Amino acid sequence: MALNYRNQEVLIVGGGLAGLVASLLLVQKGFPVTLVEKKTYPFHRVCGEYVSNEVMDFLKRNELYPLGIDLPQIRKFEFSDTQGKSITMPLDLGGFGISRYVFDEWLYRLAIRQGVEVITGVQVSDLYFDAQEDLFRVSLSDFQERQAYYVLGAFGKRSKLDQVMGRKFFGQRSPYIGVKYHIRTSWSRETVALHNFNGGYCGINAIEEEKFNLCYLGSREQLREYGSIEEMEKQILWKNPLLESIFRESEFLFDKPEVINEINFERKLPVENHLLMLGDAAGLITPLCGNGMAMAMHSAKLCTEVLALGGTRLEVELRYTSLWNAQFYQRLGIGRAIQGLFGSGRGSIIARNLITHLPPVARFLLKNTHGQSF
Ligand SMILES: Cc1cc2nc3c(=O)[nH]c(=O)nc-3n(C[C@H](O)[C@H](O)[C@H](O)COP(=O)(O)OP(=O)(O)OC[C@H]3O[C@@H](n4cnc5c(N)ncnc54)[C@H](O)[C@@H]3O)c2cc1C
Repeated sequence: MALNYRNQEVLIVGGGLAGLVASLLLVQKGFPVTLVEKKTYPFHRVCGEYVSNEVMDFLKRNELYPLGIDLPQIRKFEFSDTQGKSITMPLDLGGFGISRYVFDEWLYRLAIRQGVEVITGVQVSDLYFDAQEDLFRVSLSDFQERQAYYVLGAFGKRSKLDQVMGRKFFGQRSPYIGVKYHIRTSWSRETVALHNFNGGYCGINAIEEEKFNLCYLGSREQLREYGSIEEMEKQILWKNPLLESIFRESEFLFDKPEVINEINFERKLPVENHLLMLGDAAGLITPLCGNGMAMAMHSAKLCTEVLALGGTRLEVELRYTSLWNAQFYQRLGIGRAIQGLFGSGRGSIIARNLITHLPPVARFLLKNTHGQSF
């Protein structure tokens, strides 16, 4: 007998890739879905915008791949150490480039067409699980009060709700900042590069409309020391000659960069206070792995399949926790472990030598930080 989900309203907090994809999968299965996103589409986010091809089958199967937009296919990986010595290797799986400005907006419009109630420009300011009534009570910043049977936490790496929920990582200061630009440059459109500099690393890859994304993870301390992003880039990033030439020779398309701080890679839990966490809200993988977006979409798929299977709330939570751990726990750990090889002179030289002389080890690491098609 087909399950009837009409009484199981789902409220999704956050309309990044995890939230948008979950909303679409759920509405297709017959759940009533509301998605609340605090910003208004389209908007830029700090993100490298290289999407691992492990999502390709999934996106195409569910008609979530943005057709009609010419997207660069990326098949090679270039790595340079802090001195600018570089090595290029083929990528087994590869990926494609698309800006979040375009991708998220495309999914948002699709979600509206398919019947998701999308509330934008409004923040979820508070929520709690009412055990007696077996439902969530949710407060929005426009003073609406909502209730829902399930709440999915897709609110990204750091949100007001993490604080409201007293999540442990929230109080820890992070040493990282993230900075993003869109540029026009003569770089190869089929190569994703990771250029190291002292204190961080910078990715560059093609996206739509002949543009490129240039995005780096840098150090909060260095920004403080040099007083401005521009000065820090000149004093630190430009020490890698490859980065210097990219910065000097490219056309920068934003008036000013997108910048975020407090990027925390500490462990989180996939279920907390009965919320089912998706994407970065469940755990943020280090950007050097280049597959946080794929994980966000994959977690949405796992979670929505568990909801569709039904069962008691406890069964749903245990099933999702176990699937999430099996799929992502080790990957996040390996990402954290190899992060130490990047952003330092010695570490980046070791990493480059590893790629040059021990390609099977490099491939092993790539494989174990990436998933497989799902
Ligand atoms: C420097 C850097 C580079 C990266 N490069 C890549 C890359 O090249 N490839 C890759 O695959 N991944 C990359 N990532 C990771 C990737 O960006 C994330 O894994 C991905 O965006 C996670 O998607 P998400 O939906 O979980 O969160 P997000 O995309 O962050 O979406 C969360 C949404 O929730 C909203 N929100 C938050 N709180 C509330 C609230 N209380 N109420 C309502 N809405 C709320 C936010 O406005 C936001 O829109 C990078 C990350 C960083 C930091």
